Amino acid sequence: MNKQFDLAHPIFKIISEAASELSFETYAVGGFVRDQLLGRNCKDIDFVCVGSGIELAQKATEKISDKPHVSYFKNFGTAQFRWNEFDFEFVGARKESYDRNSRKPVVEDGTLEDDQNRRDFTINAMAISLNKNSFGELVDPFNGVKDLEEKLIRTPLDPDITFSDDPLRMMRAIRFATQLDFKILPETFDAIKRNKERIKIISQERVTDELNKIILAKTPSIGFILLEECGLLEIIFPEFQKLKGVENYEGKGHKDNFYHTLQVLDNITKATNDLWLRWAAVLHDIAKPPTKKFVEGTGWTFHGHEVLGSKWVPKIFGRMKLPMGNEMKFVRKMVYLHLRPIALTKEEITDSALRRLLFEAGDDIENLLSLCEADITSKNREKVKRYLTRFEVVREKLKEVEEKDQVRNFQPPVTGELIMETFGIGPSREIGVIKEEIKEAILEGKIRNDYEEALKMMLELGEKLGLKKQSDVRSPKSEENTDNA
Ligand code: ATP
Ligand code: MG
Repeated sequence: MNKQFDLAHPIFKIISEAASELSFETYAVGGFVRDQLLGRNCKDIDFVCVGSGIELAQKATEKISDKPHVSYFKNFGTAQFRWNEFDFEFVGARKESYDRNSRKPVVEDGTLEDDQNRRDFTINAMAISLNKNSFGELVDPFNGVKDLEEKLIRTPLDPDITFSDDPLRMMRAIRFATQLDFKILPETFDAIKRNKERIKIISQERVTDELNKIILAKTPSIGFILLEECGLLEIIFPEFQKLKGVENYEGKGHKDNFYHTLQVLDNITKATNDLWLRWAAVLHDIAKPPTKKFVEGTGWTFHGHEVLGSKWVPKIFGRMKLPMGNEMKFVRKMVYLHLRPIALTKEEITDSALRRLLFEAGDDIENLLSLCEADITSKNREKVKRYLTRFEVVREKLKEVEEKDQVRNFQPPVTGELIMETFGIGPSREIGVIKEEIKEAILEGKIRNDYEEALKMMLELGEKLGLKKQSDVRSPKSEENTDNA
């Protein structure tokens, strides 16, 4: 492993000088050191000094000509600033001791060694000296370099104490194992199993944050499998746990929906880095367990799982403290529609079915298609290939229909105002009826999506409903003109 650190960024010399003037021993620590050794990019750099982190940050910025704005967190004794697209954080070395009955540690000033002892994993507990006489040297008391080489997550001290003190570290262990594709040392993993219940004292926001990082990793299934194995999944995401397992009836089994969902999630990482589309993959089959039924002659069915699943989305998002606005609505819509494009590959594709799908998916159609493509999983490679080819046909046809009919962002060609004006009526039930019938006729392909045809149909429908046409109906063009007049 390359132990030459890239300390070319001017900040390191600046901090080294500031530290020497203040006579504070100072080091770069944690994630930055780990990522340097791994050759990963890292734009968050943490500095620890034996002294005041706030004073060190102040002194350092005095030496920068375009002096960055420094944020101070007096309660935590930390300071932070952004410069040249990097985030720098400064903290005084500390010693932490936990009392079992309280979640907040007692914090005192400490040495570098104390500070390294309180860190979560050996690979996160390394420091690079910025002191004049040892500039650039690695301080690695727990053999973090060896664990990096062996791709191992291990706590520096007794894992039971480490996890019990701060149970979020259990989520972090699994998150790092996922992001870095590392193994968790068996002793460390066993301690997670023993301490899993303690996760309940951690705020949902912090747990969800780690879960999101797992979902955003290159191969998220690694994390979910570990979460399941240690028993954390059942506590933090019981609906997902319930996807696991296969039931057999008369010699017929179904897919294990846990592994299927993880395959879909791993598949979609190739199409998108968007957290919400990845969440849609996580949740697309979430309601399969309660909708499962064995039907004679058909086999296992999960009728309505997309409808029930979409109803669960707000409930799950709420509990997970995920955003309840457009993000949640998008995921709910994806879950609701996720069977539709696939259904199209199984039957004769009609233009009206394509128009309906475009109408319902709107601008999310591309995302929906990505989800559906990721959802094609089977042990049989030929089968997957066949489906993907048929799916390509659906894609092409959707494009053709959209070019022709433009229903993707459907706006009714006749408005409620025009209906009211034409028949001299106020807001009423008839307006809804007319608009709905026109929309249906367009989607079914009975009329085209244009003003003239819709107007003709509107007049016919009005007559059927016993409405009387007023004498002077304006065309939309003249309406525009009067608006501007
Ligand atoms: P990333 O920034 O990619 O999430 P990181 O290792 O930098 O990874 P941070 O959360 O930024 O993680 O924390 C910086 C460092 O602080 C870690 O490397 C670790 O040494 C320490 N640390 C963070 N959280 C904890 C914790 N809960 N318990 C112990 N040490 C921690
Ligand atoms: Mg970091």
